[in-house]
Amino acid sequence: MKKVVKFGGSSLASAEQFRKAGSIIRNDSARRYVIPSAPGKRNPDDVKVTDMLYQCYKQAILDDDMERDFEEILAQIKQRYDEIIEGLNLSLSLDDEFKLIRENFCKKVGRDYAASRGEYLNGIIMAAYLDYTFIDAAEVICFDANGDFDAERTNDTLTARLKDIDCAVIPGFYGSMPDGKVKTFSRGGSDITGSIAARAVQADVYENWTDVSGFLIADPRIIPNAKTIDVITYRELRELSYMGATVLHEDAIFPVKKAGIPINIRNTNRPEDKGTLIVEATCQKPRFIITGVTGKKDFASITVEKAMMNAEVGFCKKVLEVFENNGVSIEHMPSGIDTMTIVVHQDEFQEKEQKVIAGIHRAVEPDFLELESDIALIAVVGRGMKATRGTSGRIFSALSHANVNVKMIDQGSSELNIIIGVRNHDFEEAIKAIYDIFVTTQL
Ligand code: ASP
Repeated sequence: MKKVVKFGGSSLASAEQFRKAGSIIRNDSARRYVIPSAPGKRNPDDVKVTDMLYQCYKQAILDDDMERDFEEILAQIKQRYDEIIEGLNLSLSLDDEFKLIRENFCKKVGRDYAASRGEYLNGIIMAAYLDYTFIDAAEVICFDANGDFDAERTNDTLTARLKDIDCAVIPGFYGSMPDGKVKTFSRGGSDITGSIAARAVQADVYENWTDVSGFLIADPRIIPNAKTIDVITYRELRELSYMGATVLHEDAIFPVKKAGIPINIRNTNRPEDKGTLIVEATCQKPRFIITGVTGKKDFASITVEKAMMNAEVGFCKKVLEVFENNGVSIEHMPSGIDTMTIVVHQDEFQEKEQKVIAGIHRAVEPDFLELESDIALIAVVGRGMKATRGTSGRIFSALSHANVNVKMIDQGSSELNIIIGVRNHDFEEAIKAIYDIFVTTQL
């Protein structure tokens, strides 16, 4: 059995957290490949090392010598690592590493290099602590000359490199371009490195250790004590994360999905919890009919009405082109016989609103055009809905009991999700009503 384990920033923010991660790893000899993040927040007011590094580099590249006081922040960063090293009783010194980092900052080697040092240094400490081999991610995670991640080259390189290494630590978040320049993924990107490593070693599972016990059925700010999702499919997760649930970087799904490897989200502070298992497909019946309910506020809708529009070839295309030409992306598009509604992000649309309206008038000469704003979209997601009669009936009766007016309904053709549009101010009530009917009343 082979497991790749990734630890997030809060799981490695201090020596105490490092110890928890260490005992989790030592508890299971299958946990052979470790991907650390940079030290995160130790408390809600703390600053992540990655953010300190960005800040430090910003100072280091200022032209004005008087303003360039990056040394102090660099010393604070070093202090954070030294505290971890001391707390773990390691005989390790990062003095030479920091000397080099300082020199490179002065040479202005790049913002990505700067940010990547958070993971790099934590990787060195983790490898020393576990007595695992340290592998610099710059040698095995490949980006192309345009800075795009090169999945296949990385997979070949990493597979070859790890073939004869039983236990290794590979820092998350970064790799390098063909010219050797360090390049990072977007924020939270250590999740991606973990997934890439899991694919490369054909792991049995990719464990992603964080500070929550998996995905919750609903946002705990709206539903305190919301239940955890035991098993979720990649597709369900995609729907839920697109609409607001965030625990895992979106791009972390692709490498393991390709290789059919499940991801297990686990809690470093509660290792006895099973967490959430993310799988390609499952016969396991979900605990509840819905897997999750989530959503986002602040959408606007544009309804275009024209008699006999269904008979006009290319009508929809012309309307959609207006949005395309104005660079406005479309979220949803429910339609009627003589109407079509386009749902867009309000903030993106607002500044282009009049241009879009004029464009639609020119393109299709509608009878009537209506704009509505402050709409929230709620996604009810669940593979169990397909096989269950009356799911939408229950959703809408729950919403009507809660006095929530439904403005729009859109059921995806996969029957995996139902999207419901409500007023922004009804958002929380609507989520509560849906959670209650499918979860609370079923417990
Ligand atoms: N340390 C990086 C960040 O804060 C990457 C990560 O933690 O995944 O975004």
